[in-house]
Amino acid sequence: MVTYRAYIKKDYKAEIRWEPDHPFLAGLARISFMTVLLVIPWLLLGMKAPELTPTSSPVSKSVITSQQDRIIEPSAIDNGLVIDTAYLPENEIFETTGLEPPELEEIIDPINDQVTEAAWQSVVVSKGDNLARIFSRLNLSARDLDAIMALGEDTLVLKHLQPEQVIQFQIDDNQFKSLKYPASLVTTLHVVKTDDGFRAETLTEELEIRIKHVNVIIDDSLFLSGVEAGLSDNLIMQLVAIYGWDIDFALDIRSGDHFSMIYEERYKNGNKVSEGPVLAAEFVNQNIPYRAVRYTYEDGQSDYYSETGRSMRKAFLRTPVNFTRISSGFSLKRKHPILNKVRAHRGVDYAALSGTPVKATGDGIVTYLGRNGGLGKAVILKHGGQYSTVYAHLSNYKQGLRSGNRVKQGQIIGYVGMTGLASGPHLHYEFRVNGVHRNPLKVELPQATGIPEEEMKHFTTQIEPLLAELDNITAKSGLITVNSHSDLRSSVL
Ligand SMILES: [Zn+2]
Repeated sequence: MVTYRAYIKKDYKAEIRWEPDHPFLAGLARISFMTVLLVIPWLLLGMKAPELTPTSSPVSKSVITSQQDRIIEPSAIDNGLVIDTAYLPENEIFETTGLEPPELEEIIDPINDQVTEAAWQSVVVSKGDNLARIFSRLNLSARDLDAIMALGEDTLVLKHLQPEQVIQFQIDDNQFKSLKYPASLVTTLHVVKTDDGFRAETLTEELEIRIKHVNVIIDDSLFLSGVEAGLSDNLIMQLVAIYGWDIDFALDIRSGDHFSMIYEERYKNGNKVSEGPVLAAEFVNQNIPYRAVRYTYEDGQSDYYSETGRSMRKAFLRTPVNFTRISSGFSLKRKHPILNKVRAHRGVDYAALSGTPVKATGDGIVTYLGRNGGLGKAVILKHGGQYSTVYAHLSNYKQGLRSGNRVKQGQIIGYVGMTGLASGPHLHYEFRVNGVHRNPLKVELPQATGIPEEEMKHFTTQIEPLLAELDNITAKSGLITVNSHSDLRSSVL
């Protein structure tokens, strides 16, 4: 007879991506999406306004650009400061807006100068669209299209139009004059027809970075409290990913837990376009503070560390599979469900649907891959000198995986099944230290590699201002921190 320990444990550690399966959270995600949909046309209107206004001289054009900044500046709207300067005579514009007439050379754009006559029109890319279809819809010449695509690297991006993107065209007398295409968040491709052929130019715009911080006290759930404090799902998931190795966000969170976080926001023309990364955080879980700072190596790689340079990650994932329940725990005396004899169960069984991916819990080498009696199709990984892990009852191995292969933590190695002696689809997982079976749910997992000795000096210098800022905001929050320099759970275990 099978005795199921029927508790459901939602596991955030192995999965960075957040798939809401809670109806409320799914609803929230839907609402955010709708908000974005509602905001897009408004933004487009704001951005298109200067282009659609009839302008003749480059000077007045530049003034209208300033006005556009005012339109999208919410505080200016609140204060009733938006002044429609488009219809004022030029000298009055400068008086009203308090702007100095700009230096001419600042605003002369060799490309735009040749195309000020024709109005711009916006084309929204639809599903399955490509530039050839758009050209034909606009009655533009296919020969011009060929010439544009022959310009080389710059115009290659036009082969990968995405639905909902907006391309702006200047067409005069059914003749292509120019186009502007937002190739990425920070680059715009300009293509212009000149007297001696076509020219393409990619303009890059730096995003403005603003540093933000937040203090959040958790009422009921991390997600709800985070959302209430104005944090996006994305930022909350970044926090979960940083701390997911130390804190089980489904089981460990208590009312009154709190966190402070310093993070970046990126802005384009005054509009927020992206958030993150988190630069530093302190999470106080059941009165134990966990601090994490982001450190960037010279080669550009970044990771999160404690104040003393210990990695926030562990060398092993706690669980190798997204499971529905633990069907049988680690026990030295268990009646085997099929053999009906008392036998030690030296692993953990994770009930999951057949075909669910099984992940390597740590970096390692495949030392065994094949059928192994009652274990059925099994994979054994060796991780350094001390550790090995066993994955059994698989329906199949990851295609192409061979004994001797190196695998990375989180890499899929096979799929849940019920080969060998199994009463239903589940993963049997063993964690061995020096050949001895240990309870994977309880064993103290070794830390991933921390900051290398030779890098420590640089590390300390880089994180100093972040820690100072963190001290500052946690002090300001009025929250009592038991021991702000405790270094992760290892110090209290
Ligand atoms: Zn088992």
